[in-house]
Amino acid sequence: MRFEYAQDSEARSLVALRDSYGLFIGGSFAGGSSVFKTISPASEEVLAEVTHGTTEDVDRAVAAARQAYERVWSTMPGAERGRYLFRIARLLKERAPELSVLETLDSGKPIRQTRDVDLPLAAAHFFYHAGWADKLGYAGFGATPRPLGVAGQVIGWSSPLLMLAWKIAPALACGNTVVLKPAETTPLSALAFAEICQQADLPPGVVNVVTGDGTTGQLVAAHPGLDKVAFTGSAEVGKEIARACALSGKRLTLELGGTAANIVCADANIEAAVEGIITGVFASQGHVCGAGSRLLVQEPILDDLIAALKRRMTTLRLGDPLDSDTDVGAVNSRAQLDKIAELAASGEAEGATRWSAPFALPDRGFWFPPTVFTDVSDTYRIGTEELAGPVLTVAAFHTPEQAVERANSTRYGLSAGIWTQQGPLLGWLASRLRAGVVWANTFNRFDPAAPFGGYRESGFGREGGRHGLEAYLDMPGTGTPDV
Ligand code: NDP
Repeated sequence: MRFEYAQDSEARSLVALRDSYGLFIGGSFAGGSSVFKTISPASEEVLAEVTHGTTEDVDRAVAAARQAYERVWSTMPGAERGRYLFRIARLLKERAPELSVLETLDSGKPIRQTRDVDLPLAAAHFFYHAGWADKLGYAGFGATPRPLGVAGQVIGWSSPLLMLAWKIAPALACGNTVVLKPAETTPLSALAFAEICQQADLPPGVVNVVTGDGTTGQLVAAHPGLDKVAFTGSAEVGKEIARACALSGKRLTLELGGTAANIVCADANIEAAVEGIITGVFASQGHVCGAGSRLLVQEPILDDLIAALKRRMTTLRLGDPLDSDTDVGAVNSRAQLDKIAELAASGEAEGATRWSAPFALPDRGFWFPPTVFTDVSDTYRIGTEELAGPVLTVAAFHTPEQAVERANSTRYGLSAGIWTQQGPLLGWLASRLRAGVVWANTFNRFDPAAPFGGYRESGFGREGGRHGLEAYLDMPGTGTPDV
């Protein structure tokens, strides 16, 4: 019997949405000539109008960031910069209930993810980097490491506020100023963050937020007034940005997508592995860059594991993202839903077997049921292209060597997971996986002190930890190359 829970929604009333939002440049908000609407992907309700940043707007934002860099931020003692970061961290914590509802409304992510994971982690990133601001000389990059200057930062729609924190916290801690362009479909939490900068009395121009679509992103990434470009998004756009930055002297870091392998060995605790698989690819509808979308299972336990996984999938709850009991929320946009549906259809057409958990999907909004593909060959698009949705492909392996070969048979290399109770096997596998992060008997765990980043088409550069500071410090001969 299926137990029906009473609805337990976080109050929408925690958020006071404005009808329209301007750009945040030089410490204040100002509207522009052109606007677009941001909607709730769960209901298609219009949430607000947001300004579309133009060439002139990006020029003004870069000029404001340059002025703040030269006059205030780069010369401010690290301890003082750290105090601003602490303030921002405290404000993020204080406003976490409101911000998590806002993020859920705009992105479709379940409130359990935004409230219990994204917001605490975003605040933790500011706390962590606040601690570094006056200790950069002890970070192993020389006695007096210097900032780079003005950073242009362009981010995507998966975990918008958390990705903002990953970008802005280290940049500011190291003495840089920033111009940030959030995704077109999830601009609201970045604009709320801009308000927090005002509340924290951050000097005007240290953080600038320019909203808009891909063309605004292009304007930011290609702006000649920048010293650094940091990008989180798809490999396709990452390559374009790399071309735009080539030979410009700008430092570049790219945090791109992935198709992470989640490897379950025959001795693994199946119950724990099933929970890890669910967390890895179905939580947040698979809208996580490191989502464990390729499950590799050792042959002897394949059938048992798939049966246990399907049983568990039928108990997931899909629906209102503001409901605390919801596991699977709305897909971020119609375009992303179409992409997921097209790739899923290609999986069937190529010969894989499709099974979706039996959910009634809401009438409005963008929804895709948690889905598993078995009988997947390494050459099928469904197993090789990043899908960023609640879709898992399953393949078997016999030997650890085969697991490594299948796991590495991708052009990406962001993250991977291993499930085994044997320490030596764990070490053997982990050292051979071409992935920036390898989780052991867990999945999708993040910590500000742990560097995160990719190999190959998953990008280069690290965010988080001591390594992440390197991306915002001027150290010839170290860090990511000038391109
Ligand atoms: P996109 O690459 O489509 O977009 C990312 C950002 O770039 C958006 O702000 C977008 O604007 C902007 N943009 C689009 N075109 C251009 C362009 N030509 N030049 C400059 N900027 C541009 O990625 P998604 O928004 O679809 O984000 C999801 C992707 O991000 C997935 O691949 C996911 O794996 C990856 N990701 C990686 C992470 C990591 O740490 N490695 C973390 C989280 C996500 P607009 O929104 O208007 O299109």
